[in-house]
Amino acid sequence: MKFTFVTLFKNLVDGYFLDSILSRAIKKDILTIEYLNPRDFSDNKHFKVDDSAVGGGAGMVMNPQPLYKCLDALKKEDKEVHIIFLTPVGKPFVQSDAKRLANKSHIAFVSGRYEGIDERVIEEYSDEVFSIGDYILTGGELPSLVICDAISRNVEGVLGNSDSLSIESFETPLLEAPSFSKPQNYKNNSVPKEYLKGNHSKIRSLKIALSECKTKFFRPEQLLKYKLTQS
Ligand code: SAM
Repeated sequence: MKFTFVTLFKNLVDGYFLDSILSRAIKKDILTIEYLNPRDFSDNKHFKVDDSAVGGGAGMVMNPQPLYKCLDALKKEDKEVHIIFLTPVGKPFVQSDAKRLANKSHIAFVSGRYEGIDERVIEEYSDEVFSIGDYILTGGELPSLVICDAISRNVEGVLGNSDSLSIESFETPLLEAPSFSKPQNYKNNSVPKEYLKGNHSKIRSLKIALSECKTKFFRPEQLLKYKLTQS
C-alpha cells in the first residue's frame, strides 16, 4: 500500500517511519511512503504558496494554484489515488475508517498550514475530509501521521500478530479491559488474582466486568451503545 504526504514540511513527517513497526513494513515492501511539496508546483517566481484571505480575516490561506498543479500531477500518475484532506472541520476519524481505508491501494494526505487551504481545492480534489479531534493544531502533518498509522496497522502483514486487532478497543463499543505484565506483584500491588488462576471462563467474565467499568468511567456514551447491543 502506498501513502503520499502532500506537505510543505516533509521533515515533520519522515522521522516517524525510521523506527518500529512501520519502518519494518516499509523494509518488507508492504508500505511505500512518498512526498510531494506544493511549493515545487508554484508558478510564483518566489515559490509562494499562500496569500491573505479574500474577504478579510486573520492569517494566510494556502493558494489554489500550487495545490491544483500538485494534485493534478498526483492523479495523472495514479488515477486510483484516494485523496484525504485534514482539517478541524472534517468528519471525525474513527477506527472503522481505519479498517475500511486499509483496503485502498494508494492514499494521499493533504496537510494544511497557516489558516488552512483554499476551499476550492478541497471541493475539487477531496475523496474524504477528516478531523482528528476538536482542537486546532498548527498543521495537517500530525493528523496525517495519526491516520496513516491507524490505517497501516490494519494492512495485512504490518503487525507481527494480527490477532491483537480483533480484541482491541473500538472493535466493540466496550473499551479493552486493563492489561498487566510481570511481575505479578509490584511494589505491593498485585494484578487481579483471577488473572493468575488459569480459569479462562472466569478471566473472560472478569475482563468483561472491568471493560464495562472502564467504559462507564471514560466513555459513558459507548457503554450505552454496548447495552443496546445486549438487549
Ligand atoms: N483556521 C482553521 C480553523 O479554524 O478551522 C485552522 C487551521 S490550522 C491552524 C492549520 C491546518 O492544520 C489545517 O488546515 C489542517 O490541515 C490542520 N489541522 C489542525 N487541526 C486539525 C485537526 N484537529 N484535525 C485535522 N487537521 C487539523
